[in-house]
Formats: sequence, C-alpha cells, structure tokens
Amino acid sequence: MSKPPIVIIGTGAAGLIAAQRLAKSGFKVHVYEQNKAAARKFLVAGHGGFNLTHSEDIDTFVQRYDKIEIQKIVKYFDNQSTIAWLNNLGIPTFIGSSGKIFPAKGIKPIQVLQVILRKLADSGVKIHYGYRMIDFDEESVTLSYKGERLQTPYQKLILGLGGGSWSKTGSDAKWVDLFRAKGIKISTLQPANSGFNTKTDFSILAGQVLKNIHLKFAEHTKTGEIVFTSYGIEGAPVYYLNRFIRQNPFPITLFLDLKPSYALESVEKELENKAHIASILKDKLKLSQTAILLTKFMDKATYTNPIKLAQAIKNFPIEVTSLRPIDEVISTAGGVSFEELSDSLELKKYPAVFCVGEMLDWEAPTGGYLLQACFSSGAWVADYIKQHNTAS
Ligand SMILES: Cc1cc2nc3c(=O)[nH]c(=O)nc-3n(C[C@H](O)[C@H](O)[C@H](O)COP(=O)(O)OP(=O)(O)OC[C@H]3O[C@@H](n4cnc5c(N)ncnc54)[C@H](O)[C@@H]3O)c2cc1C
Repeated sequence: MSKPPIVIIGTGAAGLIAAQRLAKSGFKVHVYEQNKAAARKFLVAGHGGFNLTHSEDIDTFVQRYDKIEIQKIVKYFDNQSTIAWLNNLGIPTFIGSSGKIFPAKGIKPIQVLQVILRKLADSGVKIHYGYRMIDFDEESVTLSYKGERLQTPYQKLILGLGGGSWSKTGSDAKWVDLFRAKGIKISTLQPANSGFNTKTDFSILAGQVLKNIHLKFAEHTKTGEIVFTSYGIEGAPVYYLNRFIRQNPFPITLFLDLKPSYALESVEKELENKAHIASILKDKLKLSQTAILLTKFMDKATYTNPIKLAQAIKNFPIEVTSLRPIDEVISTAGGVSFEELSDSLELKKYPAVFCVGEMLDWEAPTGGYLLQACFSSGAWVADYIKQHNTAS
C-alpha cells in the first residue's frame, strides 16, 4: 500500500516552497487552501514593490530577526538561496538601489506566482481550493469543503497558515484558537510593521515624505523615509521601531532628527542669525519642504529661539498614542512558540505536524526579511522531511 501524501495547508510563500521542494524529490504532495485562489497575501505584498529578500551579507541579514531559532533557519536557506531558487524556477531578479531584491523589471507578482504554480503542477502537486482545515490529529486532517466535513490521512502535515493581518487574504489566524485548545502555546499575535497613531494631527501633511531622517526611541535609531498620514506616520523607520516600543505603555515619545548630517552645535551655528529663520532652514540647512512644514508645528517660543529651534530640529518629538489595528498592518509578531517545536519545526505534541512561515513566533522589519523567513522555514521543513523519509 502506498503511503498517504504529504499534506500542506496554506498556499503562502512558506507552503508553496515546501511543496515545490518535496515534489521535486518525488514526494506525493497535496495542498489545501481555503481560498478559491493561491497566495493572496503574496500578491498583496507585490502591490507596493515586490521585495522578495535583501542582498545584504548574511551575518547582518540574520540580525534583523528577533529570535535565534529563526536566524538559524534563515542562515540555512539564506537570501542567496532564495535568489538561486527563483532564478532556477525561471524568475530573474535584480538588486534595487536600497539592496532589496525584486523580480526583474517588467515581471509582475502574478507572473511570479504563475511560474511557481506551473512548476508545482508539472511536478505533480495537487492544489485543492476551497478546503478549510478545521482540525488535525496524529494521523489525519479534518477539512471543511462546501459545508461538508471530510478527513484525509497524511504522511506528514505542514501548516503554513500565515499570521493575523489582512484577514481578507485568508490569513485570518483562526488557527490560534485550535492550537490553544490543543494545549499548544501561542504568543499572542500583535501588530508588527505597523504605522503609528500620533497625538499631533499631521493630516495636513498627509502623503508628504520626510527623507533621510533619523527616527529615535531610547537607544534605537533608524534612518530612512517616513510618510505622514491622516492618523500619524508610516515608513521603514517606523516599522523598525515597532518591536522596541510595543512592550511599553503608550503614549510613547519618539524623536525625529531632521538634519542627521549636522551636529547640534552646527545647526545652532547656522541659526544664530535668527532674523532669517525661514531662509536659513531652506538655504543653509537645506531642510526639505516637508521638514520646513513640520517646523510650523513648533510653538512660537521654540521657533524664534535659535537654541530651542536647533534642539527641535535635532530632536523633534512625536508622541505615539497607539499602533494601527492588527488587520491592516504588514505582518504580525507572535505565533507558535518555538518551545512547542523541535529543531525541525515539528510540533512536540504532534510529531509529523510541522509549522512554517509567519505563523511561527518571530518578527522582522520590512525589506524582504518577512518573505525570506517564510521561504527559509518552508525549505527547512521540506529538506528535513526529504532527509528522514523516502518518497514512496
Ligand atoms: C501589504 C503587505 C505588503 C507586504 N510586503 C512585503 C514585502 O514586500 N516583502 C516581504 O518580505 N514581505 C512582505 N509582506 C509580508 C509577507 O507577505 C508575509 O509575511 C508572507 O506572505 C506570509 O507568508 P506565509 O506563507 O506565512 O502565509 P500567508 O501568505 O499568510 O498564507 C497563509 C495561507 O493559509 C491559508 N489558510 C489559513 N488558514 C487556513 C485553514 N484553516 N485552512 C486552509 N487554508 C488556510 C490562507 O488562506 C493563506 O492563503 C507584506 C505583507 C502585506 C500585508
């Protein structure tokens, strides 16, 4: 009698790479997805620039992750592995000016997905759409399809169920209750890579970008671009600081350095001739139009005092009142605790059931690190299964 298939739940980046690697080695793979189409979040990630990974050296790269367990997995299947994997599938990539890796110009996210799905079909992977996993035990998985309940046996079960944001893509985190009911420890899902709601109403600046600023919280500083919105601020430095500010009680004050290339004393020196503040800001300090508009939020006593104004330019306070609602953020922190998993990402309570992707308890900033860890964990589990099992 032939063995039951490897069953994978979820067609995210993590599930798809696992399916592809296993099928390529001759394993029978069945994938179940609750949506009627594959990888909706993968496609959403493609909307604002499809940042698949990052080109930085691997030792720097792994420091972007908060947990040693995921760092090890990313080191195993690293950014170069992702690039090679994509290139071998026939998806050329290029390095953007920021070091981020994208599909080559002209290749749309849907085309990347189509190539992956075609490879899966060619290697015999069956994807069943509209099937929702509602339970699993040591031998089989229970699915719901058009209101019917059915049970299917598995040889190994790989769960790539995603995090808890953008639930309309299918990443609805309903698995959290199922796991908790089974006594599996889950770190509460929280917004990550979230925008900040601010006390000051910056809506008059909505859409305006501040480039090359430093955003600071305690000993943490991140350089980059921030964007003003109707509710506060967004942008890479904002996302970077999420993990450091989340555990503190709100409100929290962050500081913007609008002129990072100048020391405080140099800004003070330029401002000494206070009769021409506006022109000094523009012509001497070369602040951007948006930064100059931001100085209008300062009170008159600050704006007209060179010492205070210099301090405000180097340390412009932004009071953050809360994070954005979890459903609208880019990713979620929290998930299946590594304590519940063996080194191979197999649930200790359910040997033969593996967890991959964003549903694991790790976090990282934007910049390609999220998809990379999903690819890495999917590859890690697939390779483990390949090394410890025979295909037929
Ligand atoms: C707006 C936005 C932009 C992003 N941009 C980037 C970027 O540029 N670079 C980057 O690295 N990352 C980016 N990300 C993050 C990245 O897309 C995710 O981290 C990654 O796609 C998660 O992949 P995953 O495989 O873990 O799960 P997901 O892609 O979330 O897939 C999980 C799948 O499981 C299915 N599923 C869940 N429960 C069940 C069930 N019970 N039964 C059956 N199926 C189920 C879901 O329907 C879904 O299809 C972005 C995210 C968003 C929201």
